Amino acid sequence: MTSNKKILVNITNACLLYFALWLLFRCIHIQFTIINIVTSTCLILFISQYKKLYWFIFFPVIVFLSLYLPIGLKFGFITSDYLITLYSTNVAESSDFLSKISIKYIIYSIFILTYFILWGKTLVNKGKLKINNKFILIISLIGSLIFIPNLIFFKELYLSTKNAITELKDFKENINKNDWHVVNVNNKYKNYVLIIGESGSKFYHGLYGYKPDTTPFLSNVNGTIVDGMLSPATHTIPSLTRVLTLQNNFKPKYNLNLIDLVNSAGFTSFWISNQNYVGRHATPITSIGLKSNYSFFQKKIDADTTTDHDLLVTFKKYLQLSHDNKRNFFVIHLHDLHPYEVCDVIKRYQRFNFPIKLTKNYKNINCYNQIVYFTDKLIEEIYNELKETNESFSMIYFSDHGIKIRNIKDKNSELMHSEEQEGYHIPLIKISSDDTSRQIISLNKTGLFFTNGIANWLGIDATNIKQKYDFFSNIPFDNEEEINHISRTKSLPLQPAIKNTILKLND
Ligand SMILES: [Zn+2]
Repeated sequence: MTSNKKILVNITNACLLYFALWLLFRCIHIQFTIINIVTSTCLILFISQYKKLYWFIFFPVIVFLSLYLPIGLKFGFITSDYLITLYSTNVAESSDFLSKISIKYIIYSIFILTYFILWGKTLVNKGKLKINNKFILIISLIGSLIFIPNLIFFKELYLSTKNAITELKDFKENINKNDWHVVNVNNKYKNYVLIIGESGSKFYHGLYGYKPDTTPFLSNVNGTIVDGMLSPATHTIPSLTRVLTLQNNFKPKYNLNLIDLVNSAGFTSFWISNQNYVGRHATPITSIGLKSNYSFFQKKIDADTTTDHDLLVTFKKYLQLSHDNKRNFFVIHLHDLHPYEVCDVIKRYQRFNFPIKLTKNYKNINCYNQIVYFTDKLIEEIYNELKETNESFSMIYFSDHGIKIRNIKDKNSELMHSEEQEGYHIPLIKISSDDTSRQIISLNKTGLFFTNGIANWLGIDATNIKQKYDFFSNIPFDNEEEINHISRTKSLPLQPAIKNTILKLND
């Protein structure tokens, strides 16, 4: 090889190595700084001195990272919340999750794998990187030792896997226990309805000032609106397992779940859900729902054509059944705002002659906004059904977590779950049959003490609940866990909402 050619080969090799490092650093969240590049090169050089070390330790790590790379680049660090969600959701949803991974990331993955196979075969196996100078060898060892603390990712991944396993084990051990001690029930209303939204972001609800108004019913109805509600987590399962149990320090207590509480207090419970049911494993949320006296999982029958709006049929049916009961508790669990499917789901609304507009720009956000609008209509219909019974009622609407717009300036931007502030901001409104005005509570609250707050709403006293919580009061809940969760969430980055580009929804 001529010296010119040699230089060219070396430059190409260096460029490829730095590209590989850049990808790996992004994947395992290491900053691409000069010091990290130099010290990681020292580590690779040091490992390359020993064939066994390279092939039996380093290379399996590279295989793992090349498999993980598309997920790491697309979704960021895989927390235990992600792992529990993946474990619990059904195959269709997991494959939907994986289908979001672009081909670009898979090519990166293949590149990393091929690059380090060639590195091993051409440089390590043939001893071409052998350092004979002890001084240089020691320098490369020191560099390696400086770099190693950056590999904290592996420790975190181990811990989040361990957490996920512990949490699922805890769920299996406790879900069939009921440890509530109800001492008194004094419900103000006969019918209570809890509407759990899916991925409903406060920022896209007209109720909180978004223009044009996506929630004309909620924006005008008499009731109490909380402006400042934060979800406990940013994904359905980790959020609702805290919301629907008397959690402690973020640990759900399945033996103290909401449905066992209402059942123990003599309510007749109804659970109506549009969430996925047929999973590889029953989700903790499904299992809590199944404890209700009556439960209906719509997607068990038809997962491909139904909408949240179809839940009304079952709600009306259950409402008929409830007349002779002393007190009723309904949960209506929505699904249509799930961020990855909004533009597919929205087409199903044509059946109801709802006005639908599919736009070229900001398509996803416009589909999302229209579903918020249809959700508002659904809540209005539930309200009207309750009114027609001439029985007293109170209803709450909130959501499991918020959403974020990926690449806000991109007109093809997608919606996603987010660990940033957007992931936590949710709507919360209570509408009761005797409301005569609108009240707005501007105060940060969290869903961590939701079961506690619901018990208060339903007029249930239980010895397990040490501190009463009223969501709809102007007095802050004086609890350290709540205060910490609020300040932690509020310190996260936050981007502004995208304007609704559909000016008149009901044209
Ligand atoms: Zn969700």
